[in-house]
Amino acid sequence: MKNLRNISTKTFLLLGGMVLGLTGCTEDDNTIDQGEPVITSQSLKMDLSQFKRDDAGVFMQAFYWNVEPRGGWYDQVTSQVEDWANSGINRIWLPAPGKGASGGFSMGYDPADYFDVGEFDQHGTVETRFGSRAELETLIATAHQNGLEVIADIVMGHNSGGGLQANPFRGGDEVYSLFNEVNGNASGKFNRTNEHFHPNDIHERDEQDLFFAETDLCHDQQYVQDWLWGRDDSVAAFYKNTLGFDGWRFDYVKSFGAQWVKAWNDKIGGFSVGENFDGNQQVLKDWVDASESPAFDFACFYRLEETLDRAQDLTALGDAENMLRKIYADKAVTFTANHDTENREGKSEEDFKNNSISYANKLLAYSYILTHDGYPTVFYLDYQAFKGQLKTLIEIYNTLAVGDIEIIEASKDEYIMKRGGNGDNPGLILYMNISNQTKQFDVTTNWANKTLVDYTDNSRATPTTDANGNTTIYAPAGSYSIWSVTK
Ligand code: ZN
Ligand code: ZN
Repeated sequence: MKNLRNISTKTFLLLGGMVLGLTGCTEDDNTIDQGEPVITSQSLKMDLSQFKRDDAGVFMQAFYWNVEPRGGWYDQVTSQVEDWANSGINRIWLPAPGKGASGGFSMGYDPADYFDVGEFDQHGTVETRFGSRAELETLIATAHQNGLEVIADIVMGHNSGGGLQANPFRGGDEVYSLFNEVNGNASGKFNRTNEHFHPNDIHERDEQDLFFAETDLCHDQQYVQDWLWGRDDSVAAFYKNTLGFDGWRFDYVKSFGAQWVKAWNDKIGGFSVGENFDGNQQVLKDWVDASESPAFDFACFYRLEETLDRAQDLTALGDAENMLRKIYADKAVTFTANHDTENREGKSEEDFKNNSISYANKLLAYSYILTHDGYPTVFYLDYQAFKGQLKTLIEIYNTLAVGDIEIIEASKDEYIMKRGGNGDNPGLILYMNISNQTKQFDVTTNWANKTLVDYTDNSRATPTTDANGNTTIYAPAGSYSIWSVTK
């Protein structure tokens, strides 16, 4: 407290002298203790709520790998949705709700019974790793009361946890492809047998990756389509109409045809995003074209990882069309981390480093996705670690991050980008600096004869623009600033 108070006193003196022209102040803690107003760049800031955009909102990935406590995750999330809503989050992504083969340990990516969302005693547990069906329904209701949409993780490429059966399509070999009331599918809905997996009477396999070769679901089978999304009591209908989910995050879409995501969405509707784990923007674009669904922007993620971490050179951020968001901004769901990138299990240190953005650069990466176009995701653990800074960045995204994007500078140490604003909304200028010293840059803004502040408070400067909008902006070492006009 003492140190903070001293900083405030100095800021008061500095701004008092510069802005208000006051003289005669002394550096005296009593000035603050007596409750006199502290003049900081804070008091120059506009109230950003007036600029809240119609499409305001940020995505929250509301879990990480191997969340604890087992059976208590839904309750944990329920207790936080109000805070997230107040921070400007508009959708939360929950783990796959169905019971997995590994029961109470499952993160949901080994689906056995899609209709058992924590109510049947099988795979060693009634609850899923995340809780009971009742706890899930309470979470969804609480999220809706707070204006948040709830997105389900849909794992429909493969299955696990069935019973053994001889498979005539594999020369009679025994395969775990039997799913019924007594073999891993206690709900009795969407029972499966060997013909619903590859190979089968239709074909050997489809064109996509065989992720779990022996239990890779065949979506060309009408029965599989019907149960996943076609019937009135399909998986999709149960999740949306009965449980109340509002949309879908499709897991590992490289393992089945893009047309099946389109078919699911055409039938049931709702928000949609696909996980096409590929840093090549052309691959992402082709999948978006075929599925007509937005996709996670792995190209943006890897360009941020490469520029901030690996190369420590921001130049490539200025290159054309090297991210999905530069091609289809309204189909790009941007992110800086997820449950896979932050999971060290089974990875060498190098593998982990090259597929994740370091904590030292995490906020720089967020400053990028929360000022550019695309629909940004905040990862649960990052929100925990950087709550104050992320709340500020989310507020900026939801208000000032509008209008045309103009890249002013993209060089080794610096990246500067202007959003043009629209109507009364003044827009912003982002200044990223990865060098180890404070940087300054002469820019031409859209703002004539205005005083500017950094709405993130990383820089305390208050530059003024001339009649042509020219001024100098600053960014601290290894940090960022986001400038706009004052009130
Ligand atoms: Zn097939
Ligand atoms: Zn890295």
